Order: sequence, then structure tokens, then C-alpha cells
Amino acid sequence: MRRVTVLGATGSIGQNTLELVARAPDRFEVVALTGGRNIAQLAHDARRLGAQVAVTAHDDLLGDLRDALAGSGVTAAAGATAIDEAADRPADWTMSAIVGAAGLAPGLRALEHGGTLALANKESLVTAGPLVMQTARRHGARILPVDSEHSAIYQALAGEDIDTVERVIITASGGPFRDWPLDRLRTATVAQASAHPNWAMGQRITIDSASMFNKALEIIETKEFFGVSPEIIEVLVHPESLVHALVGFNDGALMAHVGPPDMRHAIGYALNWPARHDLPVARLDLAQAGRLSFEAPDPGRFPALRLARETLARGGLAGAVFNAAKERALDGFLAGRIGFMQMAETVEDVLSRIYPDNGLIDAGFSLDTVARADHVARVTADAAMAARGAAAHS
Ligand code: NAD
Ligand code: MG
Repeated sequence: MRRVTVLGATGSIGQNTLELVARAPDRFEVVALTGGRNIAQLAHDARRLGAQVAVTAHDDLLGDLRDALAGSGVTAAAGATAIDEAADRPADWTMSAIVGAAGLAPGLRALEHGGTLALANKESLVTAGPLVMQTARRHGARILPVDSEHSAIYQALAGEDIDTVERVIITASGGPFRDWPLDRLRTATVAQASAHPNWAMGQRITIDSASMFNKALEIIETKEFFGVSPEIIEVLVHPESLVHALVGFNDGALMAHVGPPDMRHAIGYALNWPARHDLPVARLDLAQAGRLSFEAPDPGRFPALRLARETLARGGLAGAVFNAAKERALDGFLAGRIGFMQMAETVEDVLSRIYPDNGLIDAGFSLDTVARADHVARVTADAAMAARGAAAHS
């Protein structure tokens, strides 16, 4: 029996994870599930899977969760500390699928008791890659990537020597705005940005895909997880979303991972690792797909990619600054405060306002320093957005 905890169980990744867990009750036992405001879903899943504990992130919803779990034997809890405590419970496998910077602390707690962390929360690596990887090493824990591209790279690297890797290519669908000219991008609405052509995901990562901030985070994620130098990481636009990543070796071989755009593959690979088990994903018919196309991303329309590389060049806590500025700019876009292209402008403003001389930039990695960098970036992003709003209205 593999004891399983799912952080962010009510989200897109979390629900797909539970679907796979529920298919094999003889192999998996659920320890803890955490969620947000969707109490009905959280309680329903905790009951049917026999979880020990269910936790909502929101203190004000503890009463509702208790009511929904009455008589089930599942313990109800609420708040960020309770999520950390849920991650602390002994488990063999923990899915980190909270969205955003909030996923870092509970993921670290899970790593501290060894076992396996299936890492969907890419923000953990972007904000605190060295801390995450060091914590895993120190406690003998294993991290398995749960991002389609990074799972693909991981699989292409199985049995290979990382020193023979010459290039790592991650693909991007290009999102709903792949062909949109810059002028039109400036007017893109939340509804338009929320409609991904190939992948069904949570709203925030879907909008990040439209702006390519998601791919920007993934460049940093690749560097932090695999320890490869940023210069060998490439991004290729691939509208069909069938090739997820390619790894190039020093003998010229390019190993590609090909499959349908379905996160249950990457989740299931991590869930069953090191074995492979049958997964309910479509089997690809390449003759039917007919054609795979690739193109270079346009840096002018998708500045997020350049900003990711500048962030990597700055090093230290720049990833935490980058991610928090991006999260805040996304909040601003969702709230109608700024336009689509202003998300990247805001992040660029934040980076240039904070650097080169902010004292906390080289403060080293701890939960505390990462939280401080995150906070400074959010405050700075708010100021930058307000200044842009003022400029737009003057
Ligand atoms: P989602 O919005 O569908 O779900 C997020 C989950 O986190 C929910 O359970 C929500 O209740 C919880 N949550 C949100 N804010 C929280 C907070 N402050 N504290 C505690 N819990 C909180 O998101 P998703 O699409 O499932 O993505 C989850 C993570 O996986 C993200 O980091 C995303 O980048 C990554 N990821 C997702 C996909 C995908 O296909 N959805 C693919 C690759 C990586
Ligand atoms: Mg991805």
C-alpha cells in the first residue's frame, strides 16, 4: 500500500490525481486531502477515499467542512498551519498541486519526512529551487516532476548521463493568442485568455499559458530541477501539443516524448514510478494527427520568455520576485486593472525597480527570505500597476 497525500486536491491536477488513485484502491491509501473554498468537493472526495484528514485553506470554512464530514470519521481542519500539518503526516507519496507561491511551505514539509514529492507546483522551484532541491537531498526524499514537459524530460533522461545532455527543448502550444498581432494582444480579455486550445487546466495557469508566463516559469523550473545551464534550454512553439519535450545528447540524438495533451499521463507516471501501469489516456494515432509543426516563439509578442532568462541571470531570490510580480500582475489582469500585455510590463517594472540594489536579493534561501522577496515584489507590482494606471488616464 502506498500512502498518498494530495495538496490542492480540489484543483485540476488534484482531481486528476484522485481519479487515478481511486482506480487502484488495492495500491493506494489516502492520508490527507487539502483544498480551498470548494468544501462539497473536498468532503465528497475525503469520504469516498477514506482520508484521515481533510483541510481547507480558509479558517472561516472550518464549520462548513465539519458539517460536511459529520459521521464520516474524517478529521476536519482549516488554515495554512493545518495544511502544513497535513503535509507532515507520514505518507509515501505527496502530490504538491496547490497553485502559486502558497504551495512552497507544505511541499517542503512533505520533503522533510522523506518519501516522494510529485511536484506540480512549479512555483516551488521558481521561487526557491535551491532550497527545495537541498531539502530533498538532506532528507533522502525524491522529487518527481508533474509538468508535462518536465515529466517528458525526466523520462527521456532515464538511464542517461546528464553530462551528455547538449540541449533541452520544452514545447509550448502558443495558447489561444499564438497568431494574434501585438495590437490585438493588447485588447485581449480574461475570457479570451482563459480558453486554451489544447489543455484543460486551472484558470491561472491557462492565462499564464496565453501570455507564455507559464513557459517562462518552466524555463526556470527546468534549470532548477535538472541542474542544466539556462543556455541549453530552448522553447519551441508546437501548436499540436503532442511532443512535450525533447532532449538532445552529445552524439546528436534527440529523444522526444510524444503523447496526447492529458495531465493524467505525467501524474500517473509519478504516481506509479518506478513502475509503469495502465493509464486511462488516449493512445495517439500519429497517422491521424498527420502533421507535427514547430516554430520559434516571437519574443516581441511574448516578452515573458526574455524576462525569465533575465531572472535566471540575476539568480538568488530573483525567481521569487519574478513569480510574485507575475502572480500580482495576473490578479490585476483578472480584476480588470491592467491589460493583457501590461502583465509583462508590470513584471519588467518590478524587476527594474527592485534591482540592482535591494538588500534582500542576495539574502540566501529560507522560507523567510523567500517570503520577504515575495512580499516586496507584490508591493512593488501594486505600485507599478498604479503608476501605469495613472499614466494611462493622464
Ligand atoms: P487549480 O486552480 O485548478 O487548483 C489549485 C488548488 O490549490 C485547489 O485545490 C485550491 O483550493 C488550492 N489553493 C489555491 N490557493 C491556495 C492557497 N492559498 N492555499 C492552499 N491551497 C490553495 O490549479 P491547477 O491547474 O490544478 O494547478 C496546480 C499547480 O499545478 C499549479 O502550480 C500549476 O502551475 C501546476 N500545473 C498544472 C497543470 C494543469 O494541467 N492544470 C499542468 C502543469 C502544472
Ligand atoms: Mg507544462
